[in-house]
Amino acid sequence: MAEKKKHVPQRMCAGCRGMFDKNTLIRVVADGDKVIIDKNQNILSRGAYVCRNSECIGVVQKRRAFNKLICKAVDNGFYEELTDYAK
Ligand SMILES: [Zn+2]
Repeated sequence: MAEKKKHVPQRMCAGCRGMFDKNTLIRVVADGDKVIIDKNQNILSRGAYVCRNSECIGVVQKRRAFNKLICKAVDNGFYEELTDYAK
């Protein structure tokens, strides 16, 4: 067995596709027919991650990356909410 080091799980940003510590990213999850921000990152649902900056959120919006990752349609209002939350 390899020596186990404590490390923070890495997740991929849906915008820049970089790998970052899970707790530095914003988690977004499906909630019924909607998509919501999982502020405490503890909702057991299909989720995706994005960096806490408006550039990455903009890229996600342009590519509709969350739609693919979460299999939900994401409306523009949600991106505004996300941008506000990232500030
Ligand atoms: Zn990013």
